[in-house]
Amino acid sequence: MASSAELYARAVELIPGGVNSPVRAMGSIGRDPIFIERGQGCHVHDVDGNRYVDWVCSWGPLILGHADPEVVSAVSEAASRGTSFGAPTEGEVELAAEVVDRFASVEMMRMTSSGTEASMSALRLARAVTGRERIIKFAGAYHGHVDGLLAEAGSGLATAGVPASPGVPESAAASTVVVGWNDAEAVRSAVADARPAAIIAEPLPANMGVVPPEPGFLELLRELADSSGALLVLDEVISGFRVAWGGAQEALGVAADLTVMGKILGGGLPAAGYGGSRELMERVAPSGDVYQAGTLSGNPLAVAAGLTTLRRLDAAAYARLGELTDALTDALREAAEGKPVKVASQRGLVTLFFSPEPVRDFAGATACDAGAYGRFCRAMLDRGVYPPPSQFEAWFVSLAHDEEAIELTARAAAESLEEALS
Ligand SMILES: *Cc1c(COP(=O)(O)O)cnc(C)c1O
Repeated sequence: MASSAELYARAVELIPGGVNSPVRAMGSIGRDPIFIERGQGCHVHDVDGNRYVDWVCSWGPLILGHADPEVVSAVSEAASRGTSFGAPTEGEVELAAEVVDRFASVEMMRMTSSGTEASMSALRLARAVTGRERIIKFAGAYHGHVDGLLAEAGSGLATAGVPASPGVPESAAASTVVVGWNDAEAVRSAVADARPAAIIAEPLPANMGVVPPEPGFLELLRELADSSGALLVLDEVISGFRVAWGGAQEALGVAADLTVMGKILGGGLPAAGYGGSRELMERVAPSGDVYQAGTLSGNPLAVAAGLTTLRRLDAAAYARLGELTDALTDALREAAEGKPVKVASQRGLVTLFFSPEPVRDFAGATACDAGAYGRFCRAMLDRGVYPPPSQFEAWFVSLAHDEEAIELTARAAAESLEEALS
Protein backbone atom coordinates (compact mmCIF):
# COMPACT_ATOMS: atom_id res chain seq x y z
CA MET A 1 0.00 0.00 0.00
CA ALA A 2 1.13 3.57 -0.75
CA SER A 3 2.23 5.69 2.24
CA SER A 4 0.52 8.94 3.32
CA ALA A 5 3.50 10.84 1.87
CA GLU A 6 3.22 9.06 -1.50
CA LEU A 7 -0.55 9.49 -1.66
CA TYR A 8 -0.31 13.16 -0.71
CA ALA A 9 2.30 13.77 -3.42
CA ARG A 10 -0.10 12.30 -6.00
CA ALA A 11 -3.16 13.94 -4.46
CA VAL A 12 -1.83 17.50 -4.67
CA GLU A 13 -1.43 17.04 -8.43
CA LEU A 14 -5.03 15.91 -8.81
CA ILE A 15 -7.11 17.51 -6.04
CA PRO A 16 -6.74 21.14 -4.81
CA GLY A 17 -4.50 20.97 -1.76
CA GLY A 18 -4.71 17.19 -1.98
CA VAL A 19 -7.99 17.03 -0.06
CA ASN A 20 -11.72 17.22 -0.66
CA SER A 21 -12.39 19.53 2.31
CA PRO A 22 -9.80 22.11 3.45
CA VAL A 23 -9.31 21.28 7.14
CA ARG A 24 -8.18 17.74 6.25
CA ALA A 25 -4.98 19.18 4.78
CA MET A 26 -3.56 19.80 8.31
CA GLY A 27 -1.74 22.87 7.02
CA SER A 28 -2.76 24.91 10.05
CA ILE A 29 -0.96 22.48 12.37
CA GLY A 30 2.09 22.50 10.15
CA ARG A 31 2.10 19.00 8.71
CA ASP A 32 0.87 16.97 5.76
CA PRO A 33 -2.43 15.08 5.90
CA ILE A 34 -2.78 11.57 7.21
CA PHE A 35 -4.43 9.14 4.80
CA ILE A 36 -6.79 6.78 6.60
CA GLU A 37 -6.96 3.10 5.79
CA ARG A 38 -9.83 2.11 8.12
CA GLY A 39 -11.63 2.89 11.34
CA GLN A 40 -13.03 0.67 14.07
CA GLY A 41 -14.78 1.91 17.19
CA CYS A 42 -12.90 4.93 18.54
CA HIS A 43 -9.77 4.20 16.49
CA VAL A 44 -8.56 5.06 13.02
CA HIS A 45 -5.63 3.33 11.29
CA ASP A 46 -3.57 5.22 8.74
CA VAL A 47 -2.00 3.76 5.60
CA ASP A 48 1.41 3.85 7.33
CA GLY A 49 0.27 1.34 9.95
CA ASN A 50 -0.29 3.78 12.84
CA ARG A 51 -3.35 3.58 15.08
CA TYR A 52 -4.90 6.65 16.70
CA VAL A 53 -7.62 7.33 19.23
CA ASP A 54 -9.88 9.43 17.01
CA TRP A 55 -11.45 12.58 18.49
CA VAL A 56 -12.60 13.86 15.09
CA CYS A 57 -15.07 11.07 14.28
CA SER A 58 -15.70 12.49 10.82
CA TRP A 59 -16.42 15.91 12.44
CA GLY A 60 -19.55 14.74 14.20
CA PRO A 61 -21.60 12.14 12.35
CA LEU A 62 -20.01 9.10 14.00
CA ILE A 63 -21.56 9.26 17.45
CA LEU A 64 -21.49 5.44 17.51
CA GLY A 65 -17.84 5.35 16.40
CA HIS A 66 -16.39 3.82 13.24
CA ALA A 67 -17.86 0.79 11.49
CA ASP A 68 -20.49 0.14 14.13
CA PRO A 69 -21.66 -3.42 13.30
CA GLU A 70 -25.36 -2.56 13.40
CA VAL A 71 -24.90 0.47 11.14
CA VAL A 72 -22.71 -1.50 8.73
CA SER A 73 -25.26 -4.26 8.46
CA ALA A 74 -28.19 -1.83 8.00
CA VAL A 75 -26.29 -0.08 5.20
CA SER A 76 -25.26 -3.37 3.54
CA GLU A 77 -28.79 -4.67 3.74
CA ALA A 78 -30.15 -1.44 2.22
CA ALA A 79 -27.50 -1.53 -0.53
CA SER A 80 -28.46 -5.08 -1.44
CA ARG A 81 -31.98 -3.81 -2.21
CA GLY A 82 -30.73 -0.96 -4.43
CA THR A 83 -28.76 2.19 -3.69
CA SER A 84 -31.07 4.93 -5.01
CA PHE A 85 -34.45 5.11 -6.71
CA GLY A 86 -35.42 8.73 -7.17
CA ALA A 87 -38.72 7.65 -5.63
CA PRO A 88 -39.83 7.63 -1.98
CA THR A 89 -39.07 4.76 0.40
CA GLU A 90 -40.40 3.64 3.79
CA GLY A 91 -37.19 4.52 5.61
CA GLU A 92 -37.59 8.24 4.84
CA VAL A 93 -40.98 8.28 6.53
CA GLU A 94 -39.56 6.46 9.56
CA LEU A 95 -36.61 8.84 9.80
CA ALA A 96 -38.82 11.94 9.53
CA ALA A 97 -41.04 10.50 12.29
CA GLU A 98 -38.00 9.96 14.53
CA VAL A 99 -36.85 13.56 13.96
CA VAL A 100 -40.31 15.05 14.54
CA ASP A 101 -40.53 13.04 17.76
CA ARG A 102 -37.27 14.57 19.03
CA PHE A 103 -37.63 18.24 18.10
CA ALA A 104 -40.66 19.89 19.71
CA SER A 105 -40.46 22.70 17.12
CA VAL A 106 -40.43 20.36 14.10
CA GLU A 107 -43.70 19.02 12.67
CA MET A 108 -42.39 18.32 9.18
CA MET A 109 -38.96 17.98 7.63
CA ARG A 110 -37.29 17.78 4.24
CA MET A 111 -34.06 15.87 3.64
CA THR A 112 -31.03 17.06 1.66
CA SER A 113 -27.60 15.50 1.14
CA SER A 114 -25.51 18.08 3.02
CA GLY A 115 -25.83 20.60 5.82
CA THR A 116 -24.85 23.30 3.35
CA GLU A 117 -27.91 22.59 1.22
CA ALA A 118 -30.09 22.36 4.31
CA SER A 119 -29.14 25.80 5.65
CA MET A 120 -29.34 27.32 2.15
CA SER A 121 -32.83 25.86 1.72
CA ALA A 122 -34.00 26.93 5.20
CA LEU A 123 -32.96 30.51 4.43
CA ARG A 124 -34.69 30.43 1.04
CA LEU A 125 -37.84 29.38 2.85
CA ALA A 126 -37.39 32.11 5.49
CA ARG A 127 -37.01 34.72 2.76
CA ALA A 128 -40.06 33.44 0.90
CA VAL A 129 -42.20 33.43 4.04
CA THR A 130 -41.16 36.90 5.25
CA GLY A 131 -40.72 38.58 1.88
CA ARG A 132 -37.43 40.00 3.19
CA GLU A 133 -33.82 39.41 2.15
CA ARG A 134 -31.37 40.19 4.90
CA ILE A 135 -30.03 37.51 7.22
CA ILE A 136 -28.32 38.05 10.56
CA LYS A 137 -25.56 35.56 11.35
CA PHE A 138 -22.93 35.41 14.09
CA ALA A 139 -19.19 35.75 13.73
CA GLY A 140 -17.54 32.35 14.08
CA ALA A 141 -20.70 30.42 13.22
CA TYR A 142 -20.52 28.03 10.28
CA HIS A 143 -23.59 27.07 8.30
CA GLY A 144 -21.92 25.36 5.35
CA HIS A 145 -20.36 27.01 2.32
CA VAL A 146 -23.48 28.88 1.22
CA ASP A 147 -22.37 32.04 -0.68
CA GLY A 148 -24.05 34.57 1.58
CA LEU A 149 -22.98 32.83 4.79
CA LEU A 150 -19.23 32.70 4.18
CA ALA A 151 -18.59 35.91 6.13
CA GLU A 152 -16.56 35.38 9.33
CA ALA A 153 -17.70 31.82 9.12
CA GLY A 154 -15.64 29.78 11.57
CA SER A 155 -14.65 26.16 10.80
CA GLY A 156 -12.30 25.82 7.79
CA LEU A 157 -12.36 29.55 7.06
CA ALA A 158 -11.18 30.38 10.56
CA THR A 159 -8.57 27.64 10.28
CA ALA A 160 -7.25 29.18 7.08
CA GLY A 161 -7.47 32.67 8.59
CA VAL A 162 -9.69 34.03 5.81
CA PRO A 163 -12.57 36.38 6.71
CA ALA A 164 -14.61 35.47 3.63
CA SER A 165 -14.17 33.86 0.26
CA PRO A 166 -13.47 35.47 -3.12
CA GLY A 167 -16.13 34.49 -5.62
CA VAL A 168 -19.03 35.44 -3.37
CA PRO A 169 -21.12 38.06 -5.23
CA GLU A 170 -21.32 41.40 -3.45
CA SER A 171 -25.08 41.14 -3.58
CA ALA A 172 -25.00 37.86 -1.63
CA ALA A 173 -22.61 39.23 0.99
CA ALA A 174 -24.60 42.48 1.23
CA SER A 175 -27.68 40.66 2.45
CA THR A 176 -25.74 39.14 5.38
CA VAL A 177 -25.24 41.10 8.57
CA VAL A 178 -22.59 39.63 10.87
CA VAL A 179 -22.91 40.20 14.60
CA GLY A 180 -20.66 39.18 17.51
CA TRP A 181 -21.78 36.04 19.36
CA ASN A 182 -23.02 36.74 22.91
CA ASP A 183 -23.23 40.47 22.08
CA ALA A 184 -26.78 41.39 23.07
CA GLU A 185 -26.51 45.08 22.21
CA ALA A 186 -25.09 44.38 18.75
CA VAL A 187 -27.81 41.91 17.86
CA ARG A 188 -30.55 44.25 19.13
CA SER A 189 -29.34 47.10 16.96
CA ALA A 190 -28.69 44.83 13.93
CA VAL A 191 -32.26 43.54 14.07
CA ALA A 192 -33.63 47.06 14.36
CA ASP A 193 -31.56 48.27 11.37
CA ALA A 194 -31.78 45.26 9.09
CA ARG A 195 -35.42 44.09 9.27
CA PRO A 196 -34.07 40.59 8.64
CA ALA A 197 -35.82 37.58 7.12
CA ALA A 198 -34.01 35.41 9.62
CA ILE A 199 -31.58 35.26 12.47
CA ILE A 200 -29.48 32.13 11.94
CA ALA A 201 -27.40 30.75 14.81
CA GLU A 202 -25.71 27.62 16.03
CA PRO A 203 -27.48 27.40 19.40
CA LEU A 204 -24.35 25.73 20.79
CA PRO A 205 -21.62 27.00 18.50
CA ALA A 206 -18.89 24.45 17.83
CA ASN A 207 -17.24 25.78 14.67
CA MET A 208 -15.04 28.33 16.46
CA GLY A 209 -14.44 25.75 19.14
CA VAL A 210 -17.20 25.23 21.69
CA VAL A 211 -18.56 28.63 22.76
CA PRO A 212 -21.93 28.27 24.53
CA PRO A 213 -24.48 31.08 24.64
CA GLU A 214 -24.41 33.18 27.78
CA PRO A 215 -27.54 33.05 29.97
CA GLY A 216 -30.44 34.83 28.27
CA PHE A 217 -28.77 35.17 24.86
CA LEU A 218 -30.83 32.55 23.00
CA GLU A 219 -33.99 33.83 24.71
CA LEU A 220 -33.08 37.29 23.39
CA LEU A 221 -32.76 35.91 19.84
CA ARG A 222 -36.17 34.28 20.16
CA GLU A 223 -37.67 37.53 21.44
CA LEU A 224 -36.05 39.69 18.74
CA ALA A 225 -37.18 37.33 15.98
CA ASP A 226 -40.74 37.47 17.28
CA SER A 227 -40.86 41.22 17.75
CA SER A 228 -39.30 41.96 14.34
CA GLY A 229 -41.21 39.37 12.30
CA ALA A 230 -38.05 37.42 11.44
CA LEU A 231 -37.67 33.65 11.66
CA LEU A 232 -35.24 32.13 14.13
CA VAL A 233 -33.25 29.47 12.27
CA LEU A 234 -31.26 27.25 14.60
CA ASP A 235 -28.50 25.27 12.94
CA GLU A 236 -28.30 22.05 14.91
CA VAL A 237 -26.12 20.23 12.38
CA ILE A 238 -23.63 19.53 15.20
CA SER A 239 -25.71 19.93 18.37
CA GLY A 240 -28.77 18.04 17.12
CA PHE A 241 -29.00 14.41 18.31
CA ARG A 242 -25.77 15.01 20.28
CA VAL A 243 -26.09 17.37 23.24
CA ALA A 244 -29.52 15.96 24.19
CA TRP A 245 -32.27 13.75 22.79
CA GLY A 246 -34.01 16.88 21.46
CA GLY A 247 -30.82 18.75 20.60
CA ALA A 248 -29.72 22.13 21.93
CA GLN A 249 -33.32 23.32 21.76
CA GLU A 250 -34.22 20.83 24.48
CA ALA A 251 -30.99 21.28 26.41
CA LEU A 252 -31.28 25.08 26.46
CA GLY A 253 -35.05 25.48 26.39
CA VAL A 254 -35.43 27.50 23.21
CA ALA A 255 -37.58 26.79 20.14
CA ALA A 256 -36.61 27.46 16.53
CA ASP A 257 -38.91 28.40 13.68
CA LEU A 258 -36.70 26.36 11.37
CA THR A 259 -34.15 23.78 12.46
CA VAL A 260 -31.20 22.77 10.30
CA MET A 261 -29.82 19.28 10.89
CA GLY A 262 -27.17 16.99 9.46
CA LYS A 263 -24.09 15.02 10.55
CA ILE A 264 -25.54 12.44 13.02
CA LEU A 265 -28.77 12.44 10.95
CA GLY A 266 -26.94 10.44 8.27
CA GLY A 267 -25.01 8.18 10.65
CA GLY A 268 -21.79 8.68 8.63
CA LEU A 269 -23.41 8.77 5.20
CA PRO A 270 -24.46 11.96 3.39
CA ALA A 271 -27.76 13.18 4.82
CA ALA A 272 -29.03 16.43 6.27
CA GLY A 273 -32.34 18.25 6.45
CA TYR A 274 -34.43 21.12 7.68
CA GLY A 275 -37.75 21.26 9.45
CA GLY A 276 -40.27 23.37 11.28
CA SER A 277 -43.99 23.88 11.72
CA ARG A 278 -46.41 22.36 9.22
CA GLU A 279 -47.44 25.85 8.16
CA LEU A 280 -43.87 26.86 7.24
CA MET A 281 -42.80 23.55 5.73
CA GLU A 282 -45.88 23.27 3.53
CA ARG A 283 -44.51 26.25 1.59
CA VAL A 284 -41.82 23.86 0.26
CA ALA A 285 -42.44 22.29 -3.19
CA PRO A 286 -44.37 20.32 -4.21
CA SER A 287 -46.89 21.17 -1.51
CA GLY A 288 -45.90 24.85 -1.81
CA ASP A 289 -44.08 27.21 -4.13
CA VAL A 290 -40.56 27.35 -2.63
CA TYR A 291 -38.42 25.12 -4.83
CA GLN A 292 -35.85 22.70 -3.41
CA ALA A 293 -34.82 19.26 -4.65
CA GLY A 294 -32.02 16.66 -4.69
CA THR A 295 -31.18 13.60 -6.78
CA LEU A 296 -29.84 11.71 -3.76
CA SER A 297 -31.98 13.38 -1.05
CA GLY A 298 -33.31 10.76 1.37
CA ASN A 299 -30.86 8.23 -0.05
CA PRO A 300 -31.79 4.73 1.23
CA LEU A 301 -28.27 3.94 2.49
CA ALA A 302 -27.98 7.23 4.37
CA VAL A 303 -31.47 6.81 5.79
CA ALA A 304 -30.63 3.27 6.98
CA ALA A 305 -27.46 4.51 8.70
CA GLY A 306 -29.24 7.51 10.20
CA LEU A 307 -32.23 5.55 11.50
CA THR A 308 -30.04 2.85 13.02
CA THR A 309 -27.94 5.53 14.71
CA LEU A 310 -30.85 7.58 16.05
CA ARG A 311 -32.63 4.50 17.41
CA ARG A 312 -29.57 3.70 19.52
CA LEU A 313 -29.51 7.19 21.03
CA ASP A 314 -31.78 6.71 24.03
CA ALA A 315 -31.63 8.17 27.55
CA ALA A 316 -28.96 5.66 28.60
CA ALA A 317 -26.83 6.56 25.59
CA TYR A 318 -26.99 10.28 26.41
CA ALA A 319 -26.11 9.55 30.05
CA ARG A 320 -23.08 7.54 28.92
CA LEU A 321 -22.04 10.22 26.41
CA GLY A 322 -22.21 12.77 29.23
CA GLU A 323 -20.07 10.55 31.47
CA LEU A 324 -17.43 10.09 28.77
CA THR A 325 -17.40 13.81 27.97
CA ASP A 326 -16.97 14.69 31.65
CA ALA A 327 -14.12 12.20 31.99
CA LEU A 328 -12.33 13.63 28.94
CA THR A 329 -12.96 17.20 30.13
CA ASP A 330 -11.60 16.45 33.62
CA ALA A 331 -8.56 14.71 32.16
CA LEU A 332 -7.77 17.62 29.84
CA ARG A 333 -8.34 20.18 32.60
CA GLU A 334 -5.97 18.29 34.85
CA ALA A 335 -3.34 18.16 32.10
CA ALA A 336 -3.82 21.90 31.50
CA GLU A 337 -3.59 22.86 35.17
CA GLY A 338 -1.45 26.00 35.58
CA LYS A 339 -1.11 26.46 31.81
CA PRO A 340 -2.63 29.19 29.59
CA VAL A 341 -5.22 26.73 28.30
CA LYS A 342 -8.98 26.57 28.93
CA VAL A 343 -11.24 23.59 28.34
CA ALA A 344 -14.80 24.24 27.12
CA SER A 345 -17.24 21.36 27.26
CA GLN A 346 -20.81 20.41 26.39
CA ARG A 347 -22.17 16.88 26.18
CA GLY A 348 -20.35 15.17 23.29
CA LEU A 349 -18.19 18.23 22.51
CA VAL A 350 -14.93 19.57 23.96
CA THR A 351 -12.47 22.29 22.98
CA LEU A 352 -9.01 22.92 24.34
CA PHE A 353 -8.51 26.66 23.82
CA PHE A 354 -4.92 27.88 23.93
CA SER A 355 -6.08 30.98 25.76
CA PRO A 356 -5.46 32.14 29.33
CA GLU A 357 -9.10 33.35 29.51
CA PRO A 358 -12.33 31.49 28.80
CA VAL A 359 -13.51 32.12 25.22
CA ARG A 360 -16.92 33.79 24.82
CA ASP A 361 -16.88 34.90 21.17
CA PHE A 362 -15.06 34.64 17.84
CA ALA A 363 -12.60 37.39 18.75
CA GLY A 364 -11.61 35.36 21.81
CA ALA A 365 -11.27 32.21 19.70
CA THR A 366 -9.10 33.87 17.06
CA ALA A 367 -6.89 35.34 19.80
CA CYS A 368 -5.86 31.79 20.81
CA ASP A 369 -2.27 30.69 20.26
CA ALA A 370 -2.84 28.67 17.08
CA GLY A 371 0.90 27.96 16.77
CA ALA A 372 0.94 26.28 20.18
CA TYR A 373 -2.22 24.39 19.26
CA GLY A 374 -0.46 23.10 16.14
CA ARG A 375 2.57 21.94 18.15
CA PHE A 376 0.20 20.27 20.61
CA CYS A 377 -1.64 18.44 17.80
CA ARG A 378 1.55 17.18 16.23
CA ALA A 379 2.77 15.93 19.61
CA MET A 380 -0.57 14.18 20.21
CA LEU A 381 -0.44 12.48 16.79
CA ASP A 382 3.06 11.23 17.63
CA ARG A 383 1.53 9.62 20.72
CA GLY A 384 -1.34 7.88 18.92
CA VAL A 385 -4.07 10.42 19.61
CA TYR A 386 -5.85 12.28 16.79
CA PRO A 387 -7.32 15.61 17.98
CA PRO A 388 -9.07 17.95 15.53
CA PRO A 389 -6.24 19.49 13.48
CA SER A 390 -7.62 23.00 14.03
CA GLN A 391 -8.00 25.26 17.06
CA PHE A 392 -11.46 26.13 15.77
CA GLU A 393 -13.05 22.70 15.66
CA ALA A 394 -14.50 20.62 18.48
CA TRP A 395 -13.34 17.25 19.77
CA PHE A 396 -16.23 14.85 19.08
CA VAL A 397 -16.88 12.30 21.80
CA SER A 398 -18.59 9.09 20.64
CA LEU A 399 -20.18 6.15 22.43
CA ALA A 400 -17.33 4.01 21.11
CA HIS A 401 -14.80 5.92 23.22
CA ASP A 402 -14.01 4.37 26.57
CA GLU A 403 -12.04 4.95 29.77
CA GLU A 404 -8.93 3.37 28.25
CA ALA A 405 -8.99 5.79 25.30
CA ILE A 406 -9.46 8.70 27.68
CA GLU A 407 -6.53 7.58 29.89
CA LEU A 408 -4.27 7.33 26.86
CA THR A 409 -5.44 10.77 25.75
CA ALA A 410 -4.83 12.22 29.22
CA ARG A 411 -1.24 10.94 29.33
CA ALA A 412 -0.55 12.14 25.80
CA ALA A 413 -2.12 15.54 26.55
CA ALA A 414 0.01 16.13 29.66
CA GLU A 415 3.22 15.43 27.70
CA SER A 416 2.05 17.25 24.56
CA LEU A 417 1.09 20.39 26.49
CA GLU A 418 4.54 20.48 28.05
CA GLU A 419 6.09 20.08 24.62
CA ALA A 420 3.84 22.67 22.94
CA LEU A 421 4.21 25.34 25.60
CA SER A 422 7.88 24.97 26.54
C1 LIG B 1 -20.92 20.79 9.24
C2 LIG B 1 -21.84 21.92 9.41
C3 LIG B 1 -22.61 22.42 8.36
C4 LIG B 1 -22.42 22.00 6.94
O1 LIG B 1 -22.73 20.67 6.72
P1 LIG B 1 -22.08 19.95 5.41
O2 LIG B 1 -22.77 18.62 5.41
O3 LIG B 1 -20.62 19.89 5.66
O4 LIG B 1 -22.44 20.77 4.24
C5 LIG B 1 -23.57 23.37 8.64
N1 LIG B 1 -23.74 23.84 9.89
C6 LIG B 1 -23.02 23.40 10.93
C7 LIG B 1 -23.29 23.92 12.29
C8 LIG B 1 -22.02 22.45 10.72
O5 LIG B 1 -21.25 22.05 11.74
